[in-house]
Amino acid sequence: MASVLVVEDDQFVRSALIRHLTDASHTVRSVGTALEALREVAHVRFDVVILDLGLPDLDGSEALKMLRGITDVPVIIATARDDEAEIVRLLNDGADDYLTKPFSVEHLSARMAAVLRRSGSGGGAEDPLAGVIRVGGLAIDPLRRQAELDGAALDLTRREFDLLTFLAGRPGVVVPRKELLAEVWQQSYGDDQTIDVHLSWLRRKLGETAARPRYLHTLRGVGVKLEPPEPEPEPEPERPQ
Ligand code: CA
Repeated sequence: MASVLVVEDDQFVRSALIRHLTDASHTVRSVGTALEALREVAHVRFDVVILDLGLPDLDGSEALKMLRGITDVPVIIATARDDEAEIVRLLNDGADDYLTKPFSVEHLSARMAAVLRRSGSGGGAEDPLAGVIRVGGLAIDPLRRQAELDGAALDLTRREFDLLTFLAGRPGVVVPRKELLAEVWQQSYGDDQTIDVHLSWLRRKLGETAARPRYLHTLRGVGVKLEPPEPEPEPEPERPQ
């Protein structure tokens, strides 16, 4: 399917990644240092690079800048650091996406598919609206990590944004809590309260409540779905007396 360069110095993580990617019928090359990675991309055209931030020779952000200096190959950062400021900086420095370790294989595949889709569909001129998810009055740009409701920018935390994006990506589909935990929190188990708390924050920012939902609907014991709100009833035209 795709040719992937894995840059990871941890032997254990590296062989796991290679195994999973090969199982998913990707072609994989792997190196353990940033300098080897630079040498590889200078000679081979890859579809995507998965770049570990904690490499022995160069700091991850340095490695990313040097990669960007010689190639526009899509780069997915894999980081153990859950540091929002740094992730934002790396995205600005040219990373296409990121994964916080530990991540599931499904999560990696989904991110890879999204990155490949974007780079593949781009081809020539970049359409700034490509990849924008629209549901009702919501517009979410996963690439720029911006969301709007009825034209007004939403100020979301990283988790709120990820949660909204994940749900908006499958409108009308009830997503089980377990799946949300795995996809948005990268946890295979956890406390339902974590989801509830973030949902309620997100609801507040969308100007709705659990009792009077518009976009976000919780189905008790089942899961959560996002769908466009019912259109407001047209106000009765005023009749002249
Ligand atoms: Ca490492």
